[in-house]
Amino acid sequence: MNNKKAAIIGAGMSGITLARCLAKEGWEIDLFEKSRGLGGRLSTRRGDGWQCDHGAQYFTARDASFLSEVQHWIHRGWVAPWPASIGIYQEGSFRPSTDPIQRYVGTPRMNEMLQHDLESIRIHRQLRISSMVREDKRWTLLDDAYQPVGLGFHVVLLALPAAQAGQLVHKHSTSLFQTTQSVTMTPSWAAMCTANATRDLEWDALFVNEGPLRWICHDRFKPGREGSDTWLLHATAEWSEAHWDDEPAKVGADLQNAFLALTGITTDAPHMHRWLYADIANPLMLGSVLESESGIGLCGDWLCGGKVQGAWLSGRDLANRILS
Ligand SMILES: Cc1cc2nc3c(=O)[nH]c(=O)nc-3n(C[C@H](O)[C@H](O)[C@H](O)COP(=O)(O)OP(=O)(O)OC[C@H]3O[C@@H](n4cnc5c(N)ncnc54)[C@H](O)[C@@H]3O)c2cc1C
Repeated sequence: MNNKKAAIIGAGMSGITLARCLAKEGWEIDLFEKSRGLGGRLSTRRGDGWQCDHGAQYFTARDASFLSEVQHWIHRGWVAPWPASIGIYQEGSFRPSTDPIQRYVGTPRMNEMLQHDLESIRIHRQLRISSMVREDKRWTLLDDAYQPVGLGFHVVLLALPAAQAGQLVHKHSTSLFQTTQSVTMTPSWAAMCTANATRDLEWDALFVNEGPLRWICHDRFKPGREGSDTWLLHATAEWSEAHWDDEPAKVGADLQNAFLALTGITTDAPHMHRWLYADIANPLMLGSVLESESGIGLCGDWLCGGKVQGAWLSGRDLANRILS
């Protein structure tokens, strides 16, 4: 179908997948992203001589169509299998994980597979959409200063975490708003630590089942990484919530001490990031939602089981609904 204009808000895995599918079918796409980079929660921080994945740590591919896409990304050099040895820490002792699942990472950064094949999409970076207005069956989007930044869209497609989608749809659709309110997303503090000396442990990453930490990863040992030795620490949702408003330096020191107690490794003061929407307590299995009457669509990990695979499936599902 030609001459159809879609606005997509959010350039994470779901939004970019959706944009690619619609652009391929001749739709005119404007993709709006509030951050400088693309990828959303698939994110790698770079500093002076170091890099560290501070959002999604890896992804798995249980769905056959997603697996086939992952093989394509591997072929293009954007993704690599991560043959990590994973440990579990519980009740004071370490044991290896026996889960045989194949894990993958973007190379050299987590969002690498979202940086390509975007030629036919108009991307607007560092532009947060704060509201939407419908007139004569067409949508106009407004920025933080309530200035129009895009108009004449037949559909507006929100590829956002549930709560952020809710803020944009609440004036326009009770039913879509209710859908966004039916899931709970949980937070996570992330600490990126650099260490002067590389110390090898018997595991590359550890699921931690007690204390403030839930995950530790020897980030520098993932495929294609460069620079200083780096460790990534994620705090549990409960601990992150309880310490949400604490000073980042204090949170960093607490997590660094918990890491030292588990590993004996000392690191520099961590670089910190707060993820408000890290995980989903109760993901839906709707695939995506399209309200034909209003021309609003919703996609994102929270609509399709969560995680990177869920985000990809959801973006593709919304594209299929629109195209059919
Ligand atoms: C700490 C953490 C650990 C994780 N670990 C894993 C893991 O190990 N394995 C796994 O599979 N998944 C993991 N995930 C989840 C995974 O990252 C997500 O499921 C997936 O990346 C979600 O993609 P998405 O497109 O649905 O949303 P997002 O990636 O959140 O994309 C939404 C985009 O919308 C943008 N945006 C928001 N509001 C606006 C606005 N008003 N205007 C314009 N742009 C806006 C955001 O900046 C963002 O780029 C983890 C996530 C976090 C945070």
